[in-house]
Amino acid sequence: MRLTAESAVLRCGQGLDLRIEELHVEEQTLRLQRMMFKPTSFNSTTMPLNIPGLLVPFQLLLYPRLVIPSLLVKDIRQIDFPSLKKAGYRGAVFDKDNCLTLPHRDILVPELQNAWKSCRETFGEGNVLIVSNSAGTYLDAGGIQSESVTYHLGVPVLFHKSFKPAYSCITAIRTYFSSLPNPIHDHELIVVGDRVFTDVVLANRIRMQSGKRRGLASSVDEQERSSTSDMEPQPLMGPSGPLAIWTTGVWEKESMLMRCLERSLVKYVERWSTPSSRELLDVNGFLKEDLTPAEPPRKAGVLELLTSRVRRA
Ligand SMILES: [Mg+2]
Repeated sequence: MRLTAESAVLRCGQGLDLRIEELHVEEQTLRLQRMMFKPTSFNSTTMPLNIPGLLVPFQLLLYPRLVIPSLLVKDIRQIDFPSLKKAGYRGAVFDKDNCLTLPHRDILVPELQNAWKSCRETFGEGNVLIVSNSAGTYLDAGGIQSESVTYHLGVPVLFHKSFKPAYSCITAIRTYFSSLPNPIHDHELIVVGDRVFTDVVLANRIRMQSGKRRGLASSVDEQERSSTSDMEPQPLMGPSGPLAIWTTGVWEKESMLMRCLERSLVKYVERWSTPSSRELLDVNGFLKEDLTPAEPPRKAGVLELLTSRVRRA
C-alpha cells in the first residue's frame, strides 16, 4: 500500500496520540494499583527526614525534661483507661506504628483488641484521635491510608502537614479537640506513643505551652480577684496533662538504634535533672497489672534430652 506524505503524517500523528493515551491509562492504572494494594509499602530506608524530630536535641539543651514520660508501660494493655477518665482525662491522642499496629500497617495488633475497646468505650466517640507520622501526612496520598486506619481502628486520623512533634501539628491537635461538641482542653488529654522524640516530646511541648497559658490565666484571675474582693486565690483544678505515656514494647523491630539512644537519654536525664512540681504526679493508679500471658514452659530439645540421660547414667 502506498501512502502519500500527508496521510502518513496523519496516521503517524494518530498512532502517537493513541500511544500517549495508552501510556497515560497505564500510568494511572499503576498509580491506582499502588494506592490500593500497597498503600504503606515504603520502608524505613525511604522514609523522609523528620526535621521537627531532628531539631528536638537543640531544645533539650534548655529543657532536658522534654523527653521524660509521665508514665511508662510495655503496651496499652497496662493502661487503666477508666481510672484515667475518673481522674479527669477526657481525650486521647494515639500514635499508630508500633503502638497500635505493626509499622506501616493499618490493622490493630490482635493482642490489643480488648484494651483498645476499653479505651474507645471509656473516652467515647470522637474523643480518641490517631496522630501518626505516616497516615494523615503528605506521605498518605489521597488520604487512602487514613481511611483504611479509621475503618480498621474505628477512630479518626488527624491530617497534619508537619511531622510530630512540630508545633503546627500541636495546633492541628488543638483545633480538632476544641472543635468537638464538648471541647477537650490540653490538660485533659493523654498522649500515647512508642517514640520519645516524637510522641513524648509532643505531649510535653503541649504541656509546657498549656502550663504557661494556664499560669498566665491564673495570674490574671488572681489580679482581678484581688482587685475586686478579699477572697483567697483558688488553685486551678483538674488533671495535669497532657499525660505522656510511653509504650516501650516493640511489635516489629524498627529503628532499634534510635530507640536505644532514646532510652539511654531518658535514663540520663532522669538521673541528672530535677522534676518540676507539676511533674510530681501519682500515676501508679493508672497502671494495670501486667496482663501479658506468661510464656509457656519451653520444651526440651532432642539434644537436651540425650544430654540429661547421659548425665543421669
Ligand atoms: Mg510509633
